[in-house]
Amino acid sequence: MAQKQDYYDILGVGRTASTDDLKKAYRKLAMQHHPDKNAGNKAAEEKFKDISEAYEVLSDDNKRRRYDQFGHAGVGTSAASEGGNPYAGRSGDVNDIFSAFSDLFGTGAGGFGGSPFDDATGTGASGGRTRGTRRRGMPGSDMKIKLKLTLEEIAVGVEKTLKVKKIKTCETCSGSGSKNGEYETCKTCSGSGEVRQVSKTMFGQFVNISACPTCGGDGRVVKNKCETCNGDGRVAGEATIKVNIPAGVSEGNYIPLKGQGNAGQRGGPAGDLLVVIEEAAHKYFTRHGDDIIYDLQLSFPDAVLGTKSEVPTLGGSALVEIIPGTPSGKIIRLQGKGLGHLNSYGKGDLLVRMNLYVPARVSGHDREMLRELQKSENMSPRKTGDKNFFEKAKDIFG
Ligand SMILES: [Zn+2]
Ligand SMILES: [Zn+2]
Repeated sequence: MAQKQDYYDILGVGRTASTDDLKKAYRKLAMQHHPDKNAGNKAAEEKFKDISEAYEVLSDDNKRRRYDQFGHAGVGTSAASEGGNPYAGRSGDVNDIFSAFSDLFGTGAGGFGGSPFDDATGTGASGGRTRGTRRRGMPGSDMKIKLKLTLEEIAVGVEKTLKVKKIKTCETCSGSGSKNGEYETCKTCSGSGEVRQVSKTMFGQFVNISACPTCGGDGRVVKNKCETCNGDGRVAGEATIKVNIPAGVSEGNYIPLKGQGNAGQRGGPAGDLLVVIEEAAHKYFTRHGDDIIYDLQLSFPDAVLGTKSEVPTLGGSALVEIIPGTPSGKIIRLQGKGLGHLNSYGKGDLLVRMNLYVPARVSGHDREMLRELQKSENMSPRKTGDKNFFEKAKDIFG
């Protein structure tokens, strides 16, 4: 399968392009390659499809973020065989990033549910105007935690249970901050939830409106503070969080857990918890995309005469046949022994790379044998190399 082209490249915009830039680029290209204008032109039709697909993803903030993070795999387009709609029929795919993450993304609205302020209505003078945008207390901050994974875990995906220190909703008052559920109108903002600051400049008068610092925008304050949290509605604590890591993630990828960050003040929405993936160094393997590389040390006699060699795999071992005359640097590919792809079926490979082992010193007898071998024309690379090489080298290096 051909490598899919980068969406930003397709639209000819930079990775930091604004929504407007994207729209402009899309309009221009779509006009140019529109099938109506290019009847029967297969290339233009393909191009038009690519443009539309790129725009569909990049114009959607959510998809764009996932594309930036995971590439084509992040938006379910790595297997581009489903024709027009790259998302069609993928929802049941167990490796699909959407279904793998759906339970995580789906918890987003939790912050507001069951808030003790659901019945809050403006009681202040200007309450009517601001009611729609009234905040229920300061939102909680996002958190970031690092999660180190082994290649074995990345290969197949893993469910992890994390213990996280965070600010939690106070259980005594259910986050309201109130001892007995009684409130009074905030004196700082007279219940409007906002404070105005008027500044006069040579250009005229400006009014700055911001959330009231006393009530956090709620317009009212608790009459008697909850003693556990001192009226804040939250306390320091610890949470146990389960997170599903799909196969094939890379260092720096992160998994957003909506509403699992720090609790908001007095019932405000919780922040998000970002689980940032780190990759632990492996004893045997280095990673190359979804392939893993193992460097096999091969003795000179084995390389010349051939042998069978046992190599480690992720979670086991495999017997590799070294054919006679195997050169250093040759790669033997063990298919499907690598890491699972992030968003499609199948796995990468294990690449066994041959490295000629050269002993640092040899004993008397070995030395004698090597001296003998040294005399043999068959051992010399000069025999098979370019006959004129040394003459050429003389010309170059004088
Ligand atoms: Zn409390
Ligand atoms: Zn206030």
